[in-house]
Order: sequence, then structure tokens, then C-alpha cells
Amino acid sequence: MVGQDEPLAMSEVDFPRVPPDGVVVKLDACGVCRTDWHIWKGHWDWLGVHPRLPLILGHEMAGVVVEVGGEVRNLHVGNRVVAPFHYSCGLCNRCQAGFQNLCKRPQFPGSSLQGGFAEYVPVPRAEVNLLVLPDSVDSLAASTLGCRFMTAFHGTVEIAQLRPGERIAVYGCGGVGLSAVMIASALGAEVIAVDIDDVKLEKAHEVGASFSVNSSREDPVAAIKEFTNGGVEVTIDALGIEETVQNSIGTLRVRGRHVQIGLTTAKERGLVAMPIDIIVAQEIRIAGCHGMPRRRYPDLLRMVDKGLIQPASLIGQEVSLENVNSVLDGMSSFENVGFSVITRW
Ligand SMILES: [Zn+2]
Ligand SMILES: [Zn+2]
Repeated sequence: MVGQDEPLAMSEVDFPRVPPDGVVVKLDACGVCRTDWHIWKGHWDWLGVHPRLPLILGHEMAGVVVEVGGEVRNLHVGNRVVAPFHYSCGLCNRCQAGFQNLCKRPQFPGSSLQGGFAEYVPVPRAEVNLLVLPDSVDSLAASTLGCRFMTAFHGTVEIAQLRPGERIAVYGCGGVGLSAVMIASALGAEVIAVDIDDVKLEKAHEVGASFSVNSSREDPVAAIKEFTNGGVEVTIDALGIEETVQNSIGTLRVRGRHVQIGLTTAKERGLVAMPIDIIVAQEIRIAGCHGMPRRRYPDLLRMVDKGLIQPASLIGQEVSLENVNSVLDGMSSFENVGFSVITRW
């Protein structure tokens, strides 16, 4: 990225230098995520995100270790790995308590560090940041795991504490929303999907939704309340615009739990009005969800290994590096269905 909201430029760069505590990974696959789009558009300055240009975007990386720093003991050339979108220090009190996703000194590839829209990428503090993949999970599937899928997993399993038989409404059926639909369905919940695009809703049905609402034609709050006879136990907002935040909370029944995954856009700048009196009177709970602690990866990978969830089926298109601009443009109009992943460099 050479300029905010300008087409990305292709150029040759030096082979990355391996950090002493890190590795260099040759990427097989890197997803193109709405977070890349937000950074490209220049959003999130209200969160303190001010990337230095030029910047290599990209943070949904999977590949093979090709070089290992002198201080690294537990990773080796040839290891197949996935990187989470948030790198942690491994030392602060939050990391030590097991919440690497909330590290006090985080780094973000594709934002504060060089990212994955490149063939080779350096990864610092590799032993606390990379996860070695089981043979059953190939790099293409793994590229979905380090950001959107793991966030949906953490949001559904840990933050929402979703239980079998409960009803959950997922607002926004982009990558993270479809991931949440698939995971919630695998957990035995009844899943309702909301979007403005029939193709995305069709995909949501394919991966586990049993009811859907096109919110461009119908009021989702009224439709879901009628379908569930009063509202759902859990909502996830995977988008982060004012309408989906408010509709998510409005869709809950008494003592419902809302999980906010989508960060807001330039319109909201982090602030959305909330129906506080209803939240009080109905004991509504609202929680945020950011990435996933490292310790949950084995559970996620086991579910993939057993075929209980199939993240690879959410991949809508494989693209080459030079096609990234068209993927980003497609995101501006919410055109892309499922994950778009770079597999050709
Ligand atoms: Zn992402
Ligand atoms: Zn830390």
C-alpha cells in the first residue's frame, strides 16, 4: 500500500531478515480480509491505527518455515504453520494469564508490521505466535483460521458460551459471519443468518443456518422475534455498523447475550447509541471479542481434524497477488462471497 485508498502497487522487495527470536515463512496462502480493507481505507485512527507507508498489507497467513532465528528452539525449517492476526509479547501479565489476544504490546502484521501480501514474511517471537499445523489441515484451509474463523470460534464458544439447542442470530454473512454460522451449527445451536445479499444467505444455509432474513427487504428484529416466539438467546454482530449493533441487541430475548465482533466504520467511529433501559430491564449482556487466546487452538484444530467444521468450504475464491485490488474493490460494495485467498504470488 503506497497511499490510503489508492490501488496497491506490486514491487520487488528485499528478502526479509530473520528476527533472532523469529522465523521467515514462505506463504502458501494469505486471506484478504475486511480488516485489510479498513486499513486500506484509513479507518480506525480513533483506535490509534496509523500505519506507516509504504506497507505490505495481509494478516491471514499460512505457509512453511524456511528460515529460523538463532534463539528459536521449537520451530524448524519445514514446519507448516498458521499465524494469528495478533502477535503477542508472551511476557506481559495478560499473555502470562493466557490472554495473548489481549497482549499489552501487540503487533499486527499488515498494519504495524510487514504483512502477508508477499511471498516471504518474517514473524517475530515465533514460538509464542505461530502454531504448527496437523497434517490434516492444509495451508489453504489454515489461511482462514488465524483471523476470522478463530475469532468466530472464540466469540461463539468462549464469549457467548453458546449451548446446544440455543438460538443464535448472526448479523452479517461475510467471512467471520459465515464462520460463526458454521461453528454455532456444529455446536448444536439453531442458527439464524441476517444479511442484505441473498447469495450470502444461501451460503449461510449451506453451512448450517436454518432460517435467514434479508434485512434489505424485511425488518430482521420483527422477523426473528416472530420466528423464535420472542427472540434469541445469543446474537453476534459480525459487521459493526450502527444498524447491525442495534438490531442484534433488539433481537435478544430476556437475559440474552450479545457478542460484538465487527469493529465500526468511519461513520460510527466506535460510537453507537444503545437502548440502555431495555438492556437494564432485561438483563442483556454485551461483550466484545478480539481474536482468540493461543490455548484454544488445539480445540479448534481438533474440530477441523474430525470434520465437525470445514473452514475450507467457506473459501469463495483463490486469487493471485495482482488481483488483490479487485478483491478490495469488491469489498467496498460487499460483493465477495466467502473468503478470498491469495494462493499465487
Ligand atoms: Zn482478517
Ligand atoms: Zn503480552
